[in-house]
Amino acid sequence: MVSKILIANRGEIALRVLRAAKELGIPTVAVHSTADADAMHVRLADESVCIGPPPSRDSYLNIHQIVAACEITGADAVHPGYGFLSENAKFADILDAHGITFIGPTADHIRIMGDKITAKQTAQELGIPVVPGSDGEVKPENALEIARTIGFPVLIKATAGGGGRGMKVAKDESEVEEAVSTARSEALAAFGNDAVYMEKYLGKPRHIEVQVFGDGEGKAIHLGERDCSLQRRHQKVLEEANSPALTVEQRMKIGEICADAMRKLKYRGAGTIEFLYENGEFYFIEMNTRLQVEHPVTEAITGMDLVQEQIRVASGQGLSVTQDEVKFNGHAIECRINAEDPRTFVPSPGTLTYFHTPGGLGVRVDSGAYQGYKIPPYYDSMIGKLIVHGRNRDECIRRLIRALDEFVVDGIKTTLPLFQDLLQNEDILKGDYDIHWLEKYLAGDAK
Ligand code: ADP
Repeated sequence: MVSKILIANRGEIALRVLRAAKELGIPTVAVHSTADADAMHVRLADESVCIGPPPSRDSYLNIHQIVAACEITGADAVHPGYGFLSENAKFADILDAHGITFIGPTADHIRIMGDKITAKQTAQELGIPVVPGSDGEVKPENALEIARTIGFPVLIKATAGGGGRGMKVAKDESEVEEAVSTARSEALAAFGNDAVYMEKYLGKPRHIEVQVFGDGEGKAIHLGERDCSLQRRHQKVLEEANSPALTVEQRMKIGEICADAMRKLKYRGAGTIEFLYENGEFYFIEMNTRLQVEHPVTEAITGMDLVQEQIRVASGQGLSVTQDEVKFNGHAIECRINAEDPRTFVPSPGTLTYFHTPGGLGVRVDSGAYQGYKIPPYYDSMIGKLIVHGRNRDECIRRLIRALDEFVVDGIKTTLPLFQDLLQNEDILKGDYDIHWLEKYLAGDAK
């Protein structure tokens, strides 16, 4: 096993990693910006190092400071959490060069999956179904011809994309030129790279993603899927496992396709293969080479600790289970609790004057927040996650409604009331929603 883990992150995910390490008896090092000196992950870690001022680029993204913190504390492994440096191949390379274990995949795999075109080509070669589209990059001069071959509507996407930026729909021929040119300039501004490609635009898909795990030597398993179709501006809001849209056969089939692909790739660690799902077909959109925010719903239905699994694999101990030993049990839903106005989604930083979390059977709260905690304005607005598990979807929903009622946060605005409203909606109760549903609901158009 690795002997000391530095957690290169903050907030609830830093705490999540710390808990896994403690249960394995591995000492932890927290790093933090000056704005996070009072954070819970700093209080609970065995050691902590301040790595810079509040802006992320000077602290949580500052590779030099993080490597220095490893050297000062003798940490021989780094867990990057999600966001920040978790999908930064250069970071993985630098740790490698310093003899520090990166708890994640190889830098090469991060690179392949970080570029949308190579990711899609690789997925296709590995037997994963992809969205019909252009063969690589699309130049403005041949965009129209490619769009005609794919068939309208088409979506222009940035090769270096992320967070839904550099993405434009062209409904018909007349819209192609402008869509390509706007997508290119948005991509250039956001990613410093104006390369774009083209895909068939799916009208009413669900977002379904498969959790995979590989040992880096050709063994790999899948842990079922998560349905993350409830999104606002391409940001996930609520996630559930299993997906209400899939049968057991469909789950096992797409899971096996993904696990098989990871075996061929000799993928190491946790990964998520994201699909759009429409009319019974799966279409690959991207692979995330890290732990996801929504991993707890998978933990709830499999009973596995995914962070401990990551640590095991990174330590060269292989996977703790075979595919046959993975059992799916019941249903789980996660709500992302953001410090935001539940109607306008404007961030609401401030001090938590009261903070009471729900409990009871099947209820888990992952949060670094506490009464008196002052939410710094510099980072993501998610202050915690409420994850509820039940023996079936109905029980899970009843438990979630009960848990939301118990959750009290005063002093700031949160998205808790949004979930209370959503759980009274017929479509949500039936599990009948696609990736556009939430935006329509918020605009007052949904049922
Ligand atoms: P990003 O990395 O920018 O988040 P993704 O490829 O993951 O880009 O896509 C983000 C979101 O955009 C998806 O969850 C989906 O809502 C939408 N999207 C992506 N590709 C398509 C497509 N071909 N048709 C319809 N919607 C799409």
